[in-house]
Amino acid sequence: MTAPHIATSRAPSAEATDDIVTTFEVAKLDLRGRVVRLGPVVDDILNRHDYPVPVAKLLGEAVVLTVMLGSALKIEGRLILQTSTDGPVRMLVVDFTAPDKVRAYARFDLARVEAAADDAGKLLGHGHLAMTIDQGPELNRYQGLVALTGGDLEAAAHEYFANSEQIPTRVRLAVAEEFRAASGGPRRQWRAGGILLQFLPKAPERMRVADIHPGDAPPGTEPHRVTEDDAWLEGRALMETVEDLELLDPDLSSERLLYRLFHEPGVRVFKRVDIFAQCSCSRPRVEAMLKSFSQDDRDHMVKDGEISVTCEFCSAQYKFRPEEVGAKPN
Ligand SMILES: [Zn+2]
Repeated sequence: MTAPHIATSRAPSAEATDDIVTTFEVAKLDLRGRVVRLGPVVDDILNRHDYPVPVAKLLGEAVVLTVMLGSALKIEGRLILQTSTDGPVRMLVVDFTAPDKVRAYARFDLARVEAAADDAGKLLGHGHLAMTIDQGPELNRYQGLVALTGGDLEAAAHEYFANSEQIPTRVRLAVAEEFRAASGGPRRQWRAGGILLQFLPKAPERMRVADIHPGDAPPGTEPHRVTEDDAWLEGRALMETVEDLELLDPDLSSERLLYRLFHEPGVRVFKRVDIFAQCSCSRPRVEAMLKSFSQDDRDHMVKDGEISVTCEFCSAQYKFRPEEVGAKPN
């Protein structure tokens, strides 16, 4: 999943290919999917924090995955991906507000990150990944939980779809820094991309997939074997051929990537959704939050005559005089 650095010296393209989700269908094989391409959005999110490169990469992957899933929500929905693990990156949080806003942050232990280097599975460690979907007050919140056991986020996504949605699904995620020629020297810029492919035949019995885990079967039990549908086998095989660079290349549009993959069975591209890096924090919201704290908590937050709050998502700083939020000046 680690991508090489991309070196390009392209001129800015008139055709917008970044920060979009493209939905597609391969009708002949009963496949549906989405391609996510992120340029300035992921660069903005990651640059708001001074994360070590391996942490930024991992968070970038989580952003792609969340955008991929969140963009399927109805207009009012919200999807929150959160990991909680014992690894060097102990928490990743990505918050997607439908139809198009995303924000994210990570919590990590620097010394342990340096020791784990670039291994996504080691960085995450063991714990769980929670996917919370909130589709407004009329609908129940839904939470899907996946155990993280030393694998990467692609593996966790496959586990999530197998357990929670029971739809045969493959996901590819890629993140890298692009070095681009610019006046004043080369500029580094984060890019990220991903593709999701799902098998959705009209006849549900065609959706059988081979069990990945034998489960708690007694020793000696033959693993449960099923023959997977030929259409899905073909879709999976095509997904295996997707290179990280194809997901990241700023000169390869999502449409061209899809054509490259599925020109033989034929592919139809539907709507494109533009994605924005936008935080929902604001001074009135922070003020309301502070006012909801106990008197004692508020008093303890006063330092050097003021209360300072930093948004974990976007690093925006809000400063209040104690009396503004009902705290005692010290
Ligand atoms: Zn914020």
